[in-house]
Amino acid sequence: MTSHIMPTYARLAITFERGEGAWLWDDNSQRYLDALSGIAVCNLGHAHPAVHAAICEQSAKLLHTSNLYQIKSQEKLADKLIEMSGMSNVFFSNSGAEANEAAIKLARKFGHAKGIEKPAIIVMEKSFHGRTLATLSATGNAKIQQGFEPLVEGFVRVPYNDISAIKNVLAENKSIAAILVEPVQGEGGVNIPASDYLNQIRALCDEYNILMMLDEIQTGIGRTGKFLAFQHNGILPDVCTLAKALGNGVPIGACLASGKATDIFSAGNHGSTFGGNPLACSAGLAVLNTLSDSNLISEATEKGNAIATKFKEKLQNNSHIVDIRNLGLMIGIELDKPCTALVGQALNAGLLINVTQDTVIRLLPPLVLDDNQITQLVDTLSALIQEYTK
Ligand SMILES: *Cc1c(COP(=O)(O)O)cnc(C)c1O
Repeated sequence: MTSHIMPTYARLAITFERGEGAWLWDDNSQRYLDALSGIAVCNLGHAHPAVHAAICEQSAKLLHTSNLYQIKSQEKLADKLIEMSGMSNVFFSNSGAEANEAAIKLARKFGHAKGIEKPAIIVMEKSFHGRTLATLSATGNAKIQQGFEPLVEGFVRVPYNDISAIKNVLAENKSIAAILVEPVQGEGGVNIPASDYLNQIRALCDEYNILMMLDEIQTGIGRTGKFLAFQHNGILPDVCTLAKALGNGVPIGACLASGKATDIFSAGNHGSTFGGNPLACSAGLAVLNTLSDSNLISEATEKGNAIATKFKEKLQNNSHIVDIRNLGLMIGIELDKPCTALVGQALNAGLLINVTQDTVIRLLPPLVLDDNQITQLVDTLSALIQEYTK
């Protein structure tokens, strides 16, 4: 059968029909354990009752009016986001890439206000920021950029987790208006920087009067054991972007600002037809209320550490394991050889996982994962890894 969908994805030959928590069922009623959450989206698990109720209720009343008018659920979601993040205000988009587009525009306008003719942003090797032209230009992956030149200019790239590289650029390049960085790199291989990396970036951004911009699209919404990953460091960035788990599957993105980024945009500077519509905001509000009324975020630390510890025990004698690392429920198992084949093998064993950068097994299970599911995840995947590396 010829598909009428553009072949932009290498899809696995499986269709899911329903889900509940960390379980998914395919169209043959076969059950799978989801250790990926639709790539860090369904952090509350599938078919969460609070999200279900919120979108049913809202859709019975109103789906969309546009940002020509006041939107109560958008105001409420903004209030809750500000309360939980400590940031000051927010622009709502529909996706992660769009949230980053807003951040990039903030940096450019900030730079121009400082008198910089061509404001530039420091970005990292192995970063991922999205697939629009500006965000793929910011992304540190040649495969994603190839064929789409000319790229958007104004990005200066340095290695991740390398403060002196940032210092060198700042000392020489007077056009830098911002630094854009992920607190933990997701697509880049679950790369966890030094524990004071963000603190050092914060200090440099203060020293040079530039914007500290964090892409928390994957790390945010409880994933790493804090609501936002920067809360591990006791700092506030100037800009923070969110999407993925904010709507638990309903598309919504957000660009949060604080400090010197708070008052950059004025009426007419940015916009989105769908951004912050009543449906998406009701879902987002249900997600945030569920998280703040539960212990799911702090449990993400315990569960993630338990999973990493169990994998280390099971795989301690396997010389092909380079590293097992996690920050909360963002987990990476790095092998010394390509292991993308494990994705299909895990699927056959009833388990959804991901491999990024060819050699890093990436696990992003829902925060609602229970003890039995943790055991199943570790037992199934350890056995597959042992067999694969034999
Ligand atoms: C997924 C992701 C994006 C892009 O989000 P989309 O919603 O796919 O546009 C950007 N940055 C990071 C860190 C991501 O993980």
